[in-house]
Amino acid sequence: MSLENCPDTRSSWLEISKSALRSNTAFIQKQLQPKTRMMAVVKANAYGHGAVLCAKLFLAQGVEQLGVATVCEGIELRESGITAPILILSEPPESSIELLVKYRLMPTVQTAAFGLAYGEVSAAHGLVGEYHLGIDTGMTRNGIDWRDVVELRDALDFHSGLACAGTFTHFATAEDPNNWDFELQHNRFTEALGALHDAGLELGLVHCDNSAAACLRPETNYDMVRVGVGLYGLTPSQALAHHFSGLTPAMSVHAKVTRVTYPPVGAGVSYGMTWRVPKSNVQVASFAIGYADGFSRELSGRARVLCNGHSFAQVGAVCMDHAMFAVEVNPQRQFDAVSPVEVGDEVVLLGSFGEHSITAEEIAELRHTIHYEVVCDFGMRLEHVFV
Ligand SMILES: *Cc1c(COP(=O)(O)O)cnc(C)c1O
Repeated sequence: MSLENCPDTRSSWLEISKSALRSNTAFIQKQLQPKTRMMAVVKANAYGHGAVLCAKLFLAQGVEQLGVATVCEGIELRESGITAPILILSEPPESSIELLVKYRLMPTVQTAAFGLAYGEVSAAHGLVGEYHLGIDTGMTRNGIDWRDVVELRDALDFHSGLACAGTFTHFATAEDPNNWDFELQHNRFTEALGALHDAGLELGLVHCDNSAAACLRPETNYDMVRVGVGLYGLTPSQALAHHFSGLTPAMSVHAKVTRVTYPPVGAGVSYGMTWRVPKSNVQVASFAIGYADGFSRELSGRARVLCNGHSFAQVGAVCMDHAMFAVEVNPQRQFDAVSPVEVGDEVVLLGSFGEHSITAEEIAELRHTIHYEVVCDFGMRLEHVFV
């Protein structure tokens, strides 16, 4: 039995809302310039949401291309039957070239050595290998320096096994309104495009915008935008969150209570016993999600969980596969009494339950990180259920 056909093997799971993914795609499409196409970025298992299903859903919504980080991520999409163009968003190792050609995955090219090696293998198979030229305009991560683009193209273009299908850069500060570094990067990109144009070179699709820039900077939409985080319903820019009120988070994280106890006062909870039961009538409830499922150990004793319409404190160290929360049961008080939690009750770690909700932003703040990392991490091991 394959893992996908093996539900209910664990009392914890991820829910991914297809209607949220669809409405997020439509919301972003509405913000774009009329001729701008969309590449859906589905790297890192679609930011933890499940790459194959998300990619197919986005393509059905009119998205034209897919972007991934690794060659294996691209192969997974091809093996699921996807035929749309797939771009590897940075230059992969030369050792992957046979696979790129076999699975028709477009690499990003930033060096002549890689580009020519890719051209050789493509030509040997009687193919023209399409690639996108990646340009570093100031982020200092990937790409050819913006001043050296014509030189690189001159080194590549004689090769009959190569065709430039795209030219792009990536912004470091797009979520920040009125940012000077953004303007500087964009000016350098325009300069590089001008130099390539003046040299009479084919640019392919020109693209630079991530989710934030796609929606906030229509003037930089060009031929295509590369949208990740917004498709999953996360706000690309905290500073301009009101621009993104049409987005709905697609991921929620669920578990069932697997055990409840009423430990005596002073009993320790979890590794290191960093939390001890402070008074009587405190229930300790366990659920099967731990840091190996993306519920970071840094959240120990700091996170909340939702159960039966209430919000409870997670207590003790988060373990690799489990964590606990405390319920203060007050049998004397008739009103606003919290009733005990039972085995099988549903716990929500991310998402809504009744009037309460826990956002990826809230968890990110507790973890001193960003919501991107929170959803990627939850995608690591939990079973994905598309609803
Ligand atoms: C991850 C990534 C994106 C998508 O960024 P979001 O902020 O998630 O929209 C776009 N382009 C490149 C090169 C990336 O690495």
